[in-house]
Amino acid sequence: MAGNTISQINLSELLQKNFGFNMFKGEQEKIIESILSGRDTFVLMPTGGGKSLCYQLPGIISEGTAVIVSPLIALMKNQVDLVRNYNENENVAHFYNSTLNVGQKKAVEQDVKDGRTKLLYIAPETLAKPDNIEFLKSFKISFVAIDEAHCISEWGHDFRPEYRKIKDAIKKIPYHVPIMALTATATPKVQLDIVKNLSLKNHNLFVSSFNRANLYYEIRYKINDDWAVKNIIQFIKTQEGKTGIIYVLNRKSAEKIAETLCLNGIKAAPYHAGLEAKLRANTQDQFLNEDIHVIVATVAFGMGIDKPDIRFVIHYNIAKSLENYYQETGRAGRDGLEGNCIAYFNYKDITKVEKMLSDKTVTERERGMLLIDETVAYIESGECRRKFLLNYFGEEYDSKTCSEGKMCDNCAKPKEKVNVTEDISLSLNIINSCIEAHYLPHIMNIALGIKSDGVASYKHDLMPFFGQGKDKNEHYWTSVLRTTVIHGLVYREVEEYGTLKLTDKGRAYLKEPFKIEISLNHDYESEGDIVLAGNNNSSMDKELYNILLDIRKIEAKKANKPPYVLIQAPSLEEMCLKYPISEEEFSHITGVTKAMAAKYASAFCPVIKDYVEENDIIRPDDVMVKTIVNKSNDKVKIIGAIDKKISLETISKELGLKFSDLVDELESIVLNGTKLNIRYYLKEILDDEVIDEMMEFFQKNETGDIKECYENFIDDDLPEDDIRLVKLQFIGENLM
Ligand SMILES: [Zn+2]
Repeated sequence: MAGNTISQINLSELLQKNFGFNMFKGEQEKIIESILSGRDTFVLMPTGGGKSLCYQLPGIISEGTAVIVSPLIALMKNQVDLVRNYNENENVAHFYNSTLNVGQKKAVEQDVKDGRTKLLYIAPETLAKPDNIEFLKSFKISFVAIDEAHCISEWGHDFRPEYRKIKDAIKKIPYHVPIMALTATATPKVQLDIVKNLSLKNHNLFVSSFNRANLYYEIRYKINDDWAVKNIIQFIKTQEGKTGIIYVLNRKSAEKIAETLCLNGIKAAPYHAGLEAKLRANTQDQFLNEDIHVIVATVAFGMGIDKPDIRFVIHYNIAKSLENYYQETGRAGRDGLEGNCIAYFNYKDITKVEKMLSDKTVTERERGMLLIDETVAYIESGECRRKFLLNYFGEEYDSKTCSEGKMCDNCAKPKEKVNVTEDISLSLNIINSCIEAHYLPHIMNIALGIKSDGVASYKHDLMPFFGQGKDKNEHYWTSVLRTTVIHGLVYREVEEYGTLKLTDKGRAYLKEPFKIEISLNHDYESEGDIVLAGNNNSSMDKELYNILLDIRKIEAKKANKPPYVLIQAPSLEEMCLKYPISEEEFSHITGVTKAMAAKYASAFCPVIKDYVEENDIIRPDDVMVKTIVNKSNDKVKIIGAIDKKISLETISKELGLKFSDLVDELESIVLNGTKLNIRYYLKEILDDEVIDEMMEFFQKNETGDIKECYENFIDDDLPEDDIRLVKLQFIGENLM
């Protein structure tokens, strides 16, 4: 830009001329001025904020050629096409990477040398190649823009080693080249890494707010995988015509869940790196055209997808870092309209993610664990999700707006607030008195008065504050200590892997404390029961249940079978929650086979239908959650072994199950409508006569009560398991 001063250029006019926009967005103009003045420039801007214009416009209006480093070849081509679209001159932008043949490469080089090309997109590995350095020296570079700059940092969610060589390549240019680093996600840690690695000097930093005001954040505790899939289907059924992404951990889940969604009438497809490129591209196209509504994907999906109206992003497994989470949820509602971000989580999933780190190096593992810890902190937090997220990205946020709009689960359903003013002071005092910085658990141990090895070795048990918070529990102190960070009183030392230190604000607080109230963290393990409550039968329709019992009695009489064999009680209970009104729906009730539905639906369904109409009942949408043959591995093995008439003791030993647990499994198999014949085994343990008598008992008894049976056969002194097995056999023989 030699010769021009900023004031002489009317950027708005140039924007209009080159890109047809009347106005700059956000800080675009200041960013462009910064790079034009020759300053290193660091741009943190969320996706959709207009990042690329920040280098495209200065590139086009500067003397020489701007070099743009971009990690994805597919995106590069897209970008070049976009720029060419605005310009009458095709040569204005080129990409320079391994996909070009020798001839094409020569042509690009010529265009650049002749000054026709203003923007040259280049892959990092191409840039770092020694052969290409000569080419870089052969023309005037106006500046180098590094897109997706977080790829430089091992702390980022997408580390690429070749990004670390960019600076070396730039150093070989014999004159000063200003650098612009751009990224859509960068925590303070990643930021620092980028600045260091690129040795940015005196750079201007531009941070746009990372707040995505239109996104709704929610965490749901995952009772188990099946429950989560059902819950997801219920949710998607409320999203008629809308499109979304479900993120899963591995290929297998992607395929299984996509299949289950399809079975339930949702247009879904899996997407993962194991699929052929052609199929992947096809799936992506179908998603863009909305022939497919839901993509069930591993993290492989999303880079480079530009669909502005994705209405929901679901994490079936929690993301492995908050950056991933932010990036992935960020794909919802890019048009500024509705975007629901729901993440399912349980501690088992966290362990799974941790296990995935096991083949990594020690440093990578430590880093990975810290990232997971931060994710768990986010999940457990009872505070505004948005506040937590933005704080993580180094931004202060007043949760008032989120709370007014109920734009996160914690704001929508606030927990009771607890005044923690004094305990914040105690925390700060402890942190302040530890001369060496320490991690959160160490500080917590001091507050709780736990003399751990660490505490003992620093003699921190002699501290006056030791044990001053022992009337509260670990859960409470975790909440309080995390609050000190969220409120900016304490910061995590980036270079020391997150040890805690006081900020100036924290020091001021010690002198002049102010009132802080917080919602305690979620304690999901115990809250889990509460979630389950909605799922058990407390909400079952008792009136209908009694009606169905009567019908069952009549039908049982006709069939000359005891009522509990005809259709079992849990199945009736389920009907009182789901109100099946057709044979099809009836057959989806757990424990009801197709044959049973064919026989009994005509007796039950019309009554249920009348009942629903008379009482204005709104039937749940989730009636029809069908599952793929939903038998655990054990169940499949058990059924196979029984077919081969293997003794139940042997089966329980081989599967490592307690005998009574095996009986539980058998009951659940039969309850689900699968026939089992264990007469061979009963003959081993009981006299034929006893078996016959008991079978007769179960035939006559109305409820099939085990206790009653025991009392009837008290002289035989049978173990409960044996009685259960005979009952099982009886039900099995009577199943259709
Ligand atoms: Zn909130």
